[in-house]
Amino acid sequence: MAKQIYDVAVIGSGIGGLSAAARLAHSGYKVLVTERFRLLGGRCSTINLDGYLISTGAIGIEKSGPLEQTFIDVGAPFAVKRPDPQLAYYVGGKTYTMPPRGGLRWLLHHVAKDERDAERVMNILKRGMMWEEPPMTISCREWLSQYTSDENIHGVMQGVIAAMLVINSWEAPAGAFIQFLKTGGYRDFGIVEGGNINMIESLANVVRKNGGTVWSNATVKRILVDRWAARGLVIERPDGEVEVGAKVIVSNAGPKNTIELVGRENLERGYLMEVDTKIRPGPVVALFIASDRPLIQHPGALITVNTRRVCLMFQTTLTCPELAPKGMHYLESFGAFRDSLGPIDLKKEIELNIQDVREITDGFDKHARILAAECFHGGWPAFHTWPGYDVAQKTPIENLYNVGDGVKLPGWYSGTPAAAETARVVVDDIMNRHKPGAG
Ligand SMILES: Cc1cc2nc3c(=O)[nH]c(=O)nc-3n(C[C@H](O)[C@H](O)[C@H](O)COP(=O)(O)OP(=O)(O)OC[C@H]3O[C@@H](n4cnc5c(N)ncnc54)[C@H](O)[C@@H]3O)c2cc1C
Repeated sequence: MAKQIYDVAVIGSGIGGLSAAARLAHSGYKVLVTERFRLLGGRCSTINLDGYLISTGAIGIEKSGPLEQTFIDVGAPFAVKRPDPQLAYYVGGKTYTMPPRGGLRWLLHHVAKDERDAERVMNILKRGMMWEEPPMTISCREWLSQYTSDENIHGVMQGVIAAMLVINSWEAPAGAFIQFLKTGGYRDFGIVEGGNINMIESLANVVRKNGGTVWSNATVKRILVDRWAARGLVIERPDGEVEVGAKVIVSNAGPKNTIELVGRENLERGYLMEVDTKIRPGPVVALFIASDRPLIQHPGALITVNTRRVCLMFQTTLTCPELAPKGMHYLESFGAFRDSLGPIDLKKEIELNIQDVREITDGFDKHARILAAECFHGGWPAFHTWPGYDVAQKTPIENLYNVGDGVKLPGWYSGTPAAAETARVVVDDIMNRHKPGAG
């Protein structure tokens, strides 16, 4: 059989990979997407567990940002439903629902022991955004500690940072947090109707409808390189190994995996050092909880403050009841690790998350059942690297790019929109360098 040749071969069907593939296919490029699992979507997909449609990762999907723009640009449906209201905070046993704007100022004033501290913190955040960003070398907590020692204010900031950036305020660079706020800070978001897989299939269909190919159960074993340029892939499929040729390779496998697929011997030492020293995966614990009634009454994101671990909860079925069997409910909670780089005691982390959820929710012991308790870390983390610790999308191998949450752009630091934005800049570069027309 003649070797198949594509304009672009994409390794992996996460948001980054499929956003790139859909954009390219929509612009006339012959595209192959090759995914190692049966299920498309990576950490933004859906599995059915006892009739509950649970996420493989992402749950709050940003609207009006780079992700939705991708769908607009390729003409694909983006069925993300806004909860109403969107955001609330849980502080000291009470839930405070936030208005669309100005909520953080109101909350800080409300919880601060001295309102002047709250005002000082709001002013320093504003100055960071409007005048000079703080450095990347100081953590958010250390930076804000210059202006307040109020643990309620620090607790709110820790809740926001852990919920949005998956690491703690004492880990997140102050500069990265301010850059994130400047991009809009995930102000508008919703939940995918029927589960994330619908959003993923919507992008995969753009590839298929424009003559592209999407393979699942197809693991890339090697990226073929010839004289410092990418030439193709070796892919293992259920019916055997195939080699495909491609003018451009886009890897959604994460920078570290991309290196292994190329072979360290084929890469410059400087690049290897950059990836090896910079990349820091961000781990989280997620609890997937079924119940016969809502465990919290807020339908959107509930950021939880001064807890042991849990920083974010979604009672998804208040917005999308179809995610659970009729009459039942489904809640997801997320907790950052106290030390995102340290050794992981999975049992202890999960137990602390459960204790938080039991305390915060209403009727946990009587009405709830834990469907799954998962720790996302190592090769399947919340983010492939911490915000501010990203490496470049381009690799030293010509025509080999990375997309996804290991190569985020400054400011675009939170999950799926961040991955979509990497795809947009990579596709722009590809389109400037190569015209469509494989073979
Ligand atoms: C618990 C949790 C909660 C989260 N919550 C949110 C949230 O609420 N909102 C949000 O926006 N983000 C959230 N995120 C982050 C978000 O899920 C990720 O940032 C995003 O989905 C990553 O997309 P990606 O493009 O990097 O690709 P990935 O999802 O990492 O997909 C990469 C794909 O490549 C495939 N692959 C890898 N190697 C190979 C190979 N050799 N051959 C073929 N295929 C390969 C993988 O199987 C995978 O399918 C969360 C993540 C987790 C884990």
